[in-house]
Amino acid sequence: MTNDVDAVVVGAGAVGLATARALARAGLETLVLEAETAIGTGVSSRNSEVIHAGLYYPAGSLKARLCVAGRDQLYDLCATHGVAHRRCGKLVVATDDGQLPALERLLAQARRNGVSDVVRITREEALALEPEVSCVAALWSPSTGIVDSHGLMLALQGDLERAGGSVALASPVDSAVCGAGQHVLHVGGAEPMTLAARYVVNAASLGAVALARAAAGLPQHGVPHARRCKGNYYALAGRAPFTHLVYPLPQDAWLGVHLTLDQGGQARFGPDVEWLPDAPDAPIDYRVDPARADAFYADVRRYWPGLPDGSLVPAYSGVRPKIHGPEDAAPDFLLHGPADHGVEGWIDLFGIESPGLTSCLALADEVLVRLGIQPG
Ligand SMILES: Cc1cc2nc3c(=O)[nH]c(=O)nc-3n(C[C@H](O)[C@H](O)[C@H](O)COP(=O)(O)OP(=O)(O)OC[C@H]3O[C@@H](n4cnc5c(N)ncnc54)[C@H](O)[C@@H]3O)c2cc1C
Repeated sequence: MTNDVDAVVVGAGAVGLATARALARAGLETLVLEAETAIGTGVSSRNSEVIHAGLYYPAGSLKARLCVAGRDQLYDLCATHGVAHRRCGKLVVATDDGQLPALERLLAQARRNGVSDVVRITREEALALEPEVSCVAALWSPSTGIVDSHGLMLALQGDLERAGGSVALASPVDSAVCGAGQHVLHVGGAEPMTLAARYVVNAASLGAVALARAAAGLPQHGVPHARRCKGNYYALAGRAPFTHLVYPLPQDAWLGVHLTLDQGGQARFGPDVEWLPDAPDAPIDYRVDPARADAFYADVRRYWPGLPDGSLVPAYSGVRPKIHGPEDAAPDFLLHGPADHGVEGWIDLFGIESPGLTSCLALADEVLVRLGIQPG
């Protein structure tokens, strides 16, 4: 059997589309196989849509490096492709004196990560930016912003198609056989087919571990255990008195229930942390439980005491593709490629949670490096 295409990317989320775009631009005939009937219905459309500056992640980690690089690439792409976005900036607030050391630590972490424009500001300076916020001091991150995630994915798909690539919808990859110089993918759905490719990028996110497990010939050492962690959002009914994003201090890897704005200025709060049972194949219930509202009021009022009673409305949820459990420290993005498993041309992207949207273009570049492909 000869290869039907040079490269297949499994999954048409932001990361899969960005990677397919990079492969197509490198001159490879590239096909994206997506299980659903539309692009971007997975994690990429169920998040905070924040362009992260890169403050939080351990220095030298993929998350830190790809977030900082990806952020700049993303702003450039948004500007050149007319993708709705806003470099609105964000405050990270210390709400009592006991949090000041953590604020300093975060500032130092940001500096180590090369985020040089973050500054510590006083309560008065924070109030000048956001009069309704309650804090004793804050960090101001001017290069944090927001992006229309769907607009971004359409732009990536447009570039992919201009470079000769394409997306096949309703094409779930059920299993694979990895071989030397060629991988065979079995696609299910209404019109099952078999496809061969020299390069395969597993960008299936919540389905990535299952696909790696269904790949015959792919050594299973290093394939992580998949967990899922839901994040719920509540929307603010009515107009928000904020024009910047407002974040509490992070707790471990969780950034906390923060205030984000959509492109229209509408405010939403979230995501919280709800670990789902350790049953990776169970269907996901994306409904937001109204009973979680009390915890949201309490969290938000720490930095916005004026949040009116009855103003939070259950909005939507997303699910983080975890590769660790609730008790473990959050690991880095895991790009499991030929150098790790020894199979040429195949790479799995595991644990691509936040800041995966911000990092998607830099992640794509990194995938090409790991596969030994010269960028176009
Ligand atoms: C609550 C929450 C908030 C977040 N907030 C932010 C943020 O503000 N900023 C930020 O930078 N990042 C954020 N993230 C992270 C970011 O959303 C993700 O890292 C990113 O969207 C992942 O993109 P993806 O393409 O890997 O995954 P997805 O968008 O999930 O795409 C994977 C695709 O693969 C498809 N698929 C799965 N299995 C198969 C199969 N076997 N065959 C074919 N197709 C398959 C799925 O249908 C899906 O379309 C957040 C994540 C969550 C959950």
